[in-house]
Amino acid sequence: MRLTPQKVEEVIFRIVREDGLELVALLKGKENVSEFDIATKLKKDIKLVRRMLYFLYNKNLVSFTRKKDKQKGWYIYYWTLEMDAIKFEYIKQKKQTLERLEATLEKEQKEVFYVCSDTCVRLDMNESLDYDFHCPECGNLLEQDENSEKISRLNKRIADLKVELEAIHKSEAIRLEKAAAKAKEERLKEEAEAKEASNEKRRETIRKKKEALAKKNAAKEAKSAKKKTAKAKVAKPKKAAKKKSSKKKAAAKKKTAKAKVAKPKKAAKKKSPKKKAATKKKTAEK
Ligand SMILES: [Zn+2]
Repeated sequence: MRLTPQKVEEVIFRIVREDGLELVALLKGKENVSEFDIATKLKKDIKLVRRMLYFLYNKNLVSFTRKKDKQKGWYIYYWTLEMDAIKFEYIKQKKQTLERLEATLEKEQKEVFYVCSDTCVRLDMNESLDYDFHCPECGNLLEQDENSEKISRLNKRIADLKVELEAIHKSEAIRLEKAAAKAKEERLKEEAEAKEASNEKRRETIRKKKEALAKKNAAKEAKSAKKKTAKAKVAKPKKAAKKKSSKKKAAAKKKTAKAKVAKPKKAAKKKSPKKKAATKKKTAEK
């Protein structure tokens, strides 16, 4: 539904009448309009302007921000028209009108009405009975009202309103559908982004782990490489020694050979504790 200036006026008029229309004209298409500027431009008392604004505010049709005047110490209110709220108010008002017209139509079709020929009053059956079918204003005899024209007018207005509300309903449904589709699209996009972000995070964690592992491995390798080189440095002289040792080895071999031969000596040694004891005795005797 397109909120035409006429529709805005219709809504405002029903709440604050003509004075409201001038006020809304000053607010339209602007934001945060100072209430003092409004009062000056409308040439109206600030209290009256505020009263109208509060009426509209109670229907949520305007919003405000306020700022403290540092010199004077009071608050100045800045007002903005809420176009979406005006649109909803417009639809609400139309629905209320439709309900009211339908109730009136029902009553007109069901009941009989009586009128004064001088058009002073129009009364239903009960009221007419109360006045004994005489006009309470001028005393004329009341006549039954021919209301078929009124009924057809009501029918026309109701039909028009229904068409308008149906069109609004459709356009609002489309708007809501579009908004829902857009919201869904945004939600999916956000989800995809969140997923991508978490994937990226996971990849980052894996990458970091790999890096850490690689560092650890590198450190290990470096350490073992150092050891090797250290060993190699220590080992080099050995190699040199080994070279020299071939003679020694030969000597060592000879030694082990000698040892093998010498083993029987150990058996001889085993017998020696007695000898030791004997020597101990000898020392004790001394
Ligand atoms: Zn009368």
